[in-house]
Amino acid sequence: MAEKRDYYDVLGVSKNATEAEIKSAYRKKAKELHPDLNKDDPKAAEKFKEAQEAYDVLGDENKKKMYDQFGHAGVSSGAGGAGGFSGYSNFDTSGFDFGDIFDSFFGGGGGFSSFTSPFGGRENRASRGSDVLMRLNLSFEEAIFGCEKKFDLDVIEECDSCHGHGGFDAEECETCHGSGTITQQQQTILGAFMSRTTCPDCNGLGKTYQKRCSECSGKGKVRNHKKLTINIPAGVQTGDRQRVSGKGNPGENGGRNGDLYIEFIVSDHEYFLRDDNDIYLEVPLTLTEAILGCKKTIPTLYGNVKVNVPPGTSSGDKERIKGKGVQNEFRKRKGDMYLVYKVYTPKKLSREQKNLIDQLSNTVLETDEIRKFEKFAEKNDK
Ligand SMILES: [Zn+2]
Ligand SMILES: [Zn+2]
Repeated sequence: MAEKRDYYDVLGVSKNATEAEIKSAYRKKAKELHPDLNKDDPKAAEKFKEAQEAYDVLGDENKKKMYDQFGHAGVSSGAGGAGGFSGYSNFDTSGFDFGDIFDSFFGGGGGFSSFTSPFGGRENRASRGSDVLMRLNLSFEEAIFGCEKKFDLDVIEECDSCHGHGGFDAEECETCHGSGTITQQQQTILGAFMSRTTCPDCNGLGKTYQKRCSECSGKGKVRNHKKLTINIPAGVQTGDRQRVSGKGNPGENGGRNGDLYIEFIVSDHEYFLRDDNDIYLEVPLTLTEAILGCKKTIPTLYGNVKVNVPPGTSSGDKERIKGKGVQNEFRKRKGDMYLVYKVYTPKKLSREQKNLIDQLSNTVLETDEIRKFEKFAEKNDK
């Protein structure tokens, strides 16, 4: 495997980048590298995943701290995960990208709690289940206006028939006499050494079951197929994450479930360009529309409006339409819409049109800017 690149390098931000800068850099990368837009570049998908992975870490406060301190070793997914369950590993939902499920990715409870305990194996303590991250593709409109998404997922839940115990008729474990641990003596050159490990027969529970639960094959947990409906608020953007409480991986020994995080990837629109909550729209004008001004029908997110284009409009001139941007419920902000005019000069003219333009060019059409520019050229030549 190739050596992992530094996550800050991957996103092209400095180590001191703010949360907003990291998010904005990720958004840019996600747009640039999205495999749908880079079908000819076989490496794009890989780079896209690399950027996603970098953002998974740098976009999460706890993970970022771990990464800053310990580098890749501090955040590798192999380090986390209390239980042996793989979580939502196989579900088929068309909207999701790459089956991107990083169960255990956020680690149970954060910090070092999910690392192997010094006594080896799991202990009897209740621990919170790990969080699960999913990525969901949204159309431009779905993201702007919000939507309801239904999807099927496999949820790991406590087994109903044995209430999570994995069996029936409990009795004290013979190997560890109910303590859940066994003590072994080791001879080393430094002398006798006592070490304590989790009892392998009861996995630290201190008891065994005479009858194994057939429903869950003794695991205490079952995979249930569930339908989940989530309401996505208006205004989400690529990189935004919505938390669905308690829908992550199950906890151990009565610990509560982790959470499900849904991260959005929003498609671009053919005409509307979104910058945070503002919407930009290029409005093409003919030469005469630009010179004489005109009334234009302008599509907005909320239907068409009529706009007076003032006489003497140049390419690049902007017009603000207040309140016609994104009404962002997710971030509780509102944006505006900006029209950016662009004058298109015709490439082909009829003879009659050419004559008219010739007549026009004999009249004075110069502006201050043009006169200034000509003076500059004159001076420059000396
Ligand atoms: Zn069971
Ligand atoms: Zn035991």
